[in-house]
This record gives sequence, structure tokens and C-alpha cells, in this order.
Amino acid sequence: MTTTRPRIGDQHERTRSPVTTPTESYPVSAPGLPDRLAAGYIFDLDGTIYLGEDLLPGARRLIEALLVLDRKILFLSNNPTRSPADYAAKLTRLGIPATPARVLNTVATMTSWLVRHHPQATVFPIGEAPLTRALATAGIRMSEDPSAIDIVIASYDRGFDYRKLQIAFDAIRTHGPARLVTTNPDRFCPLPGGRGEPDAAAIVGAIEGCTGVRCEQNTGKPDPFMLDAALERLGLPASDCIMTGDRLTTDIRMAIDAGMSSALVLTGETTPEMLKTLPPADGPTWVLDRIDDILPWAVWSTLPGADRAAR
Ligand SMILES: [Mg+2]
Repeated sequence: MTTTRPRIGDQHERTRSPVTTPTESYPVSAPGLPDRLAAGYIFDLDGTIYLGEDLLPGARRLIEALLVLDRKILFLSNNPTRSPADYAAKLTRLGIPATPARVLNTVATMTSWLVRHHPQATVFPIGEAPLTRALATAGIRMSEDPSAIDIVIASYDRGFDYRKLQIAFDAIRTHGPARLVTTNPDRFCPLPGGRGEPDAAAIVGAIEGCTGVRCEQNTGKPDPFMLDAALERLGLPASDCIMTGDRLTTDIRMAIDAGMSSALVLTGETTPEMLKTLPPADGPTWVLDRIDDILPWAVWSTLPGADRAAR
């Protein structure tokens, strides 16, 4: 893939500097609906397939239809507090049977990034059990000794405290320079009822704030590393796939940077209001009210028992 690799700092800059005087607003009603069947479908999970513990309208029938149509499917999440097996179990429990191989999240991408690029490094993961378990299983060396740490991994860690911040500080400033990387660039994780929880960007911010270093690698959306890992798993080029998600700065940004078709669903973070000030270059290929609109009606009509009444 030949796309320019954005750094997490770029992502922060983008989210900090919204366009306030767009020369042209995003034509909310213009994109229409997809008119073709793709070989592969990549879906974000939260806000796209489900919200909290509830499947979103049309999600189950869509996945069932894609399987009948023999399409390749991959679920993609930036959340590193669960393993792919945890996500597969949740999807199955909600009514969408899934195996861990059909899920890619930042636990898996951070692990594979380290195995591929820094297999000999000693890392200090500021993260939760699924991440540290995956690193241990992959044979990545971990330490809390600042003098031994080569890479500090700032992740979504609800057990983050001053002791961990001090270890990161010492590894980077006192004994370093250790490198600072993150699993995902999300500022917060949305929760049902409009609530949220500080995510990995909060940990990155704390470490950047006290050390003055910038985080140099993100292994989640929108980084091309995440998309490359997804396409590798599907065995398809970007041109044969559609990325669908609810977040402009991660799901849709990643697809745009790769020149890939994308669909934004309005069932999660993004509201129609937010699209009104969005420059067309930052917009998705399609905007969907519900996820099963990703499949053209001409295709739905070929499926037994599938009609609009089934929605
Ligand atoms: Mg989402």
C-alpha cells in the first residue's frame, strides 16, 4: 500500500482543528446508496453493528444475507480492553454467530506490529489483561523496570495510575529514550445513554504532557497498519471491499486514506448535523440511516424471504 502513514499526532491535530469555514458543505443527501455488491465487507462494531448490548436495526439480517451471498466479512474494533475471542462471543450471544478469526482489534494489531517490527524489544504495556495476555502469548518481553524498557505502549487502561505514569516517564526521560506508541487514538469510548469512558488518547496525553515526546505509532483505525492487517485477513485488495462505520475520524478516515469505498452509518457517533460542515474530501462514499442499506435493493430482492417488510 502506498498511502502516507499518518502519525497519531496528525490524528490529534485533525480532531483539534475542525474546519470552521468550509468552502463547501458535505451534501448529506447526495451520496445515495450502494449500487453494487462488494467481495469483502469490513464493519466497525460499536455504533455500527451494536450499541452496548443491543444489535442495531438490520445488523443480523445483513450479516446473514452476506453469508448467504458468500461475501467475506471482518469486524474491526479499536477497543483493546477485549480480545477477538471476547468479541466473537459477544456477537454470537447477540445473535450473529462469529469466530475470533472474523474479528480484528487493537490487541491483535499491536501484538502483530511488535512481532513484525520489534520482536526483540522490551515493552511496558499500560493496558488491560487482554493486551498483556496477547503480548505474553506472542513472546513479547515485558518489564516495569524503566532502565529495561524500549517501548511504552499507552492503551485504554482503567487501572491507570501515577505509578504507571512514573514508570513511563522514567523509561522515556530518565533512562530513555524509550519510544511511545499506542493501540488506538480514540479520546473516549462511547457508552449507552450518551456516556463515555476516557480511552487510550487520555493515557497518551498524560505521557506526552509530562515527557514532551510525541506518540509515534498507532495500531488502530485510522492507521494504514490496521487496514493492511484487515485486508490481509480477508485476502482482498482495498478496491474490492467496503469499510462501514459510525466514526468519521477513524472508520471513514482510514478508508479515505486508502482510496477505499466507505459507508457511514448514522446509528452511532455521527449526526446529520456534523455532516453539514464536513468538507466533501473528508466524507464517506455513502451515508446510511441503517446498516442493511449497504446491500443494494436489487440484491435483497434476489434473496428468499428478504423484502422491505422484513426490516
Ligand atoms: Mg464505532
